[in-house]
Amino acid sequence: MRLANFSDGSGSRVGVVVHDKGHEAIADVVHELPELPRSLGGLLPQLPKWRRQLDMAALVAPRVELGMVELHAPIPQPRHFFAAGLNYADHAREMGVPLPIQPRLFVKLPGTVQGPFAPVRHPGFSDTLDYEGELALVVARACRDVPESAAGDYIAGYWVVNDLSIRALVNPDTVVLGKGCDGFAPQGPWLTTSDEIPDPRGLRIRTWVNDELRQDGSVGDLVHGPTTLLSWCSRGITLQPGDIISTGSPSGSGHGMKPPRYLKPGDRVRVSIDALGEIQSTILAS
Ligand code: MG
Repeated sequence: MRLANFSDGSGSRVGVVVHDKGHEAIADVVHELPELPRSLGGLLPQLPKWRRQLDMAALVAPRVELGMVELHAPIPQPRHFFAAGLNYADHAREMGVPLPIQPRLFVKLPGTVQGPFAPVRHPGFSDTLDYEGELALVVARACRDVPESAAGDYIAGYWVVNDLSIRALVNPDTVVLGKGCDGFAPQGPWLTTSDEIPDPRGLRIRTWVNDELRQDGSVGDLVHGPTTLLSWCSRGITLQPGDIISTGSPSGSGHGMKPPRYLKPGDRVRVSIDALGEIQSTILAS
């Protein structure tokens, strides 16, 4: 099932993304289920209880054209938002650093989260703005100290993230700043539940800048996969439903090009992952 946070003239609510007459549309399920939580964040902890009713409602609910709504980040205010760095061997190589043996994790500040098609303001104080197309997983329910073997049970699903970075600040001392500016994690376009993606390692991930293909990788090349990352992030930390873990980016970043090609105002960055959809952001002047 694909669940979107969207708004139109009738307010903000959760919808089920469906194939309808050859294209994607939103089944406006709150028409059939008036008691349904209005946000995905509210629905997520109760999703097992609602799942069957959602399946039924999606068959009959009125359709809303995707082009007529604004899509929001699936979880606009996660309690925790982790990201893995250097988690593809070819990306570590282009960054000129050795592959970490253990997962290398950092946090994205809450203000980085924004909708899948929202623009991103160039921070202005550095000319090293760069993109990273990534697969993100979302935590289904509260958990702590989860063994890797059980971690799959706590993954609600997946979506697409652009982990924007100021390369000049991506070092151990300042990574929180280099990855943390407002809007530096556009994401979505919606949650695809994990039952539809039994093995994300089969997915292809691509990033374009102004329609030029820059990244073309396979999630199968992840060094540390989703279950390993969830297990690590839960060590001594109680993860909450809606917490996000972005899993890292394949090679093809602007920083890795010779010479580097960073983002500038007016550029459009589009990230696509098979079966999950795509997101696109325009870079605005600072
Ligand atoms: Mg990244």
